[in-house]
Amino acid sequence: MFTLQPLPYDYSALEPIISAKTLEFHHDKHHAAYVNKLNEILTPYPELLEMSVDQLLQNLDAVPENLRQAVINNAGQVYNHNLYFDSLQGGEQTYEMSEEFYKQFDQWGSSENRQNYYEFERLWSEAGMTQFGSGWVWLVVNPDGSIAIEKTSNADSPLIHGKKPILTMDVWEHAYYVDYQNKRNEYIQNFFKVINWKKVAQRYAEIVG
Ligand code: MN
Repeated sequence: MFTLQPLPYDYSALEPIISAKTLEFHHDKHHAAYVNKLNEILTPYPELLEMSVDQLLQNLDAVPENLRQAVINNAGQVYNHNLYFDSLQGGEQTYEMSEEFYKQFDQWGSSENRQNYYEFERLWSEAGMTQFGSGWVWLVVNPDGSIAIEKTSNADSPLIHGKKPILTMDVWEHAYYVDYQNKRNEYIQNFFKVINWKKVAQRYAEIVG
């Protein structure tokens, strides 16, 4: 059985960027619904219920074809939300990155006056704003250890396509509508303030070894 990964902080931890009301609905209703639906779909397949959600998404060939899209949708959303909620933190932004990880930002410019980081923010925002409809923005690690920004629609993720995500931003309306209404750009600009860079850098380190 798949279980709902608990939030690693209180509902109010991300205020005022993301309200307790948004977090409670987003985690306890939206995220939980994907977990429940996934368990329901896979009830006749106990061997699939024993996998982790990451394993399941990386072994979609093991899923009967008539269920595959439903599994991509629900397991995809479980994985995406797990990474999303686990990549955030409240309080003052500290940009706590390892040197090795921060070096990867140099592809976007000089580290002088943190131009490289600001260009990353600009490109990330652009990806979020140009994702038509529901979807996700990602930071992934390439096989050579470099990092890249990607975006996906609906429940899709780079993980399904053999890549290694270390950070994601939910741009489904349910992630921001209560707090920002239709102003997705405002949500994105504020999102940078709640990224847990220490955790993202840890994921980077685990992948590059
Ligand atoms: Mn969501």
